Amino acid sequence: PSFLSDRINAMQESQTIAMAKKARELAAQGIDVINLSFGEPDFETPQYIRDAAKVAMDEGYTKYTPVPGYLDLRQAIVEKLHRENQLEYKAENIVVSTGAKQALANAVMSLINAGDEVIVFAPYWVSYEEMVKLAEGTSVTLMGALENDYKVTAAQLEAAITPRTKLIMYSSPCNPTGSVFSRAELGEIAAVVARNPQLHVIADEIYEYINFVGEHVSLAQFAEIKEQVITINGFSKGYAMTGWRVGYMAARKEIAAACEKMQSQITSGTCSVAQRAALAALQGGRTSADEMVAAYRRRRDLVLTQVRDIPGFKTPTPSGAFYIFPDVSAYFGRTTPAGDTLATASDLALFLLNDAHVAAVTGEAFGAPNCIRFSTAAADEKLREAFVRIKASLEKLG
Ligand code: PLP
Repeated sequence: PSFLSDRINAMQESQTIAMAKKARELAAQGIDVINLSFGEPDFETPQYIRDAAKVAMDEGYTKYTPVPGYLDLRQAIVEKLHRENQLEYKAENIVVSTGAKQALANAVMSLINAGDEVIVFAPYWVSYEEMVKLAEGTSVTLMGALENDYKVTAAQLEAAITPRTKLIMYSSPCNPTGSVFSRAELGEIAAVVARNPQLHVIADEIYEYINFVGEHVSLAQFAEIKEQVITINGFSKGYAMTGWRVGYMAARKEIAAACEKMQSQITSGTCSVAQRAALAALQGGRTSADEMVAAYRRRRDLVLTQVRDIPGFKTPTPSGAFYIFPDVSAYFGRTTPAGDTLATASDLALFLLNDAHVAAVTGEAFGAPNCIRFSTAAADEKLREAFVRIKASLEKLG
């Protein structure tokens, strides 16, 4: 409607959320839908974290919190970054936010002027593009090649930088591809960034713990560009805490202060109880995450075997996160039993929802129109059944 702002009219509804809504509608009609559209662990938040939240409530953690987060939580984040990422920060470099999503939005809004170019590595997480748009920036997407596990190369990056480039954004482990940048690859990217001191990079490391390769490398470890890097992380994925809404960023003082200012006018400090839970999560270390990762790895292997058995689905082996992102373009142009032609990944995703009753998300939402994203954060039997159904549905296509 025209009475709404241009800003909101230009914004797309999150397609992952849209697909989940459609799946719920079918389920409400009594249909047994297997929902693989979610970007959410299927595990409960570990008990020790929930217990800490209950104690926090009774101890009176019920008031406004400091805008950048409780000092002891920020200090625990400083220690985590030191211990696990070999990164040296102080509490003044950390801003705790309402999910990593807000941390990302704060950073983009604090850095981007109208017309600034933001290089977004594709396939990308859905919200990056919309955040850039909101900040009136221009996003320049760089697509990684399937043969390179969808990872953008340093050479691609260097070729895309213009005098207007202000920021680079990527996630590793990547949502939606599951790709993980190696130390060597990030070193090459760091060298390009070092030659362009006007640039900043948002390194979204929210899937850090969900890594089947082993080594997680933080871009900020490359000392010559540390000041240029904004590291984003949070509790949603590694600790199965999506609903608690706690994420954070680590960055040079000026950027942290800017993000704090942004946050002070929009949301203030995030939920008191959730922050106490996040502190307990960090104090508990990685044990609970490691248990969940073992399940994610088993499911990845299970699903890969089935997906590789589906003619026309092409997929690299995900190294982390909990998604599988096959190229399904071999099916474009095929005809459904109802006589509809499948022209796009969205058409195919919709066909799979209606025919196989499996919900997935079209790659168009991630800047990869040849692909579909399936979450592997579901019970083994559900995953097995989903891909049996998908295979059967695809066999019906003319
Ligand atoms: N970054 C990526 C790559 C994600 O996949 C997500 C969640 O789906 C987020 C950030 C946001 O996480 P949070 O729940 O902490 O806001």
